[in-house]
Amino acid sequence: MTVVTEAPTNESKLLARVPSQLYINGKWVAATGGRTLDVVDPATGRVIKTIADASVADGAAALDAADAAQADWAATPARVRGEILRRTFDLLQERKQEFALLMTLEMGKPLPEALGEVGYGGEFLRWFSEEAVRISGRYGTNPEGTGRTIVTQHPVGPCLLITPWNFPLAMATRKIAPALAAGCTVVVKPAALTPLTTLHFVALLEEAGLPAGVVNVITTSQSGAVTEPIIADPRLRKLSFTGSTPVGKALIKLSAENVLRTSMELGGNAPFVIFADADLDKAVDGALLAKFRNIGQACTAANRFIVHESVAAEFARRVTEKVEAFQIGRGTEAGITIGPLIDQKAVAKADSLVQDALTRGATLLTGGSAIEREGTFYAPTVLTDVAPGSDILRDEIFGPVLAISTFTDEEDAVRLANDTEFGLISYVFTTDLARGQRMIDKLQTGMMGLNTGVVSNAAAPFGGVKQSGLGREGGLEGIQEYLSTKYTLTPVS
Ligand code: NAP
Repeated sequence: MTVVTEAPTNESKLLARVPSQLYINGKWVAATGGRTLDVVDPATGRVIKTIADASVADGAAALDAADAAQADWAATPARVRGEILRRTFDLLQERKQEFALLMTLEMGKPLPEALGEVGYGGEFLRWFSEEAVRISGRYGTNPEGTGRTIVTQHPVGPCLLITPWNFPLAMATRKIAPALAAGCTVVVKPAALTPLTTLHFVALLEEAGLPAGVVNVITTSQSGAVTEPIIADPRLRKLSFTGSTPVGKALIKLSAENVLRTSMELGGNAPFVIFADADLDKAVDGALLAKFRNIGQACTAANRFIVHESVAAEFARRVTEKVEAFQIGRGTEAGITIGPLIDQKAVAKADSLVQDALTRGATLLTGGSAIEREGTFYAPTVLTDVAPGSDILRDEIFGPVLAISTFTDEEDAVRLANDTEFGLISYVFTTDLARGQRMIDKLQTGMMGLNTGVVSNAAAPFGGVKQSGLGREGGLEGIQEYLSTKYTLTPVS
């Protein structure tokens, strides 16, 4: 494994162009009292920008603006709403390099992966620009023949969108694009760790002609205190949250008070099942993507490798060889495949899961500790013979640690895969078509990668079952999260 430590390149011009204020009612404004928060590059530990730190009053002003803009935005023709999204998509393509660099700077992922996220995140703009004009209803006659039934769809109203730090662009576009397409206005609250991409992105929406008040952004170091009054305000009609399951549960409870519509994209604990009949080369390639993309910090990251006992040793050998060839360093540098974890807490969590697994008898094939250098790096790690009951099989690792345990037969594999309160995504590698079909039926999961390590696509419904969440983002389903259905009956005359 090679550790690369090059001097940081000069990104100051880009950072200087990124807005540092709150975006409320079409204006960039300072936080009340001039409060600020620092944004840090996790690869160096250095502050890269200081931005506004919103207060409760700023949150209220953002909701005021969203509420005031709601009626006009809902009445704006769908074609016009769609064209603003499409123009934003086009602008994003022109500026993809700078968005990628910005994400690498604030979040740490290697530049090629950040570019990939610009592609993926941008597609939600294009997809929902097309979906905006396909909001449809029904017209019919009731079974008695006495009435005409008219079913129409309407924007739910002002929404609060809370996004996590791990995909700073895609998590924002996956919510903003369908909300705007449906005719909803929004208050967006990005994570304090990676707020810059959202601020920079909103400047694109503004450039594309978005009217004032339709999108408002508050960045804050006090997420709970600032969002709780917004959630409690009866003018808010929808909360869409992506983040951890414990925070999601707390927000569902708060949302109950006003019976808010909620979409919850929560944590995962993805099984990656490899059957004896799998194409092992493909399984290794899929495993590397499903595990190490985003430095393991993805809700879709494979968490538990459940491998048939007859191929486990060979899989472990091949995957370890590849992991040892990773290039570790600051994501802005050429050839880097593994960047830093987001912060020290993430390093400590990954390490405690590894140490617990080792204490319970797992074998360490590579890695197994933090890397001593500036920034918050953890060595890509492979563990095998992970014992049942190990914390790493229960908790979301959110780091570059690949943990292998074994199974004996298909029933055993299904039992192990479903042995979690989560159900976001499962990966299955088999060349037996009938077995693949059985796994689609038997795995408790919102999504499945059958012989592939990446499934995300703007045209597909992303989301989980069990404690991984409620609702879907993307696909035909995504816009429904922001629409409510109205039924009208009128007598047949
Ligand atoms: P998190 O700690 O739950 O935070 C998510 C967002 O919620 C951030 O904006 C955070 O702001 C905010 N937040 C935290 N506490 C809050 C509170 N009490 N009230 C209101 N907002 C609050 O999660 P994270 O560490 O950022 O993200 C990692 C988690 O997200 C993982 O569990 C991952 O699986 C999940 N995730 C799920 C999906 C999916 O689609 N299912 C996608 C990506 C990530 P601050 O950080 O500024 O406090």
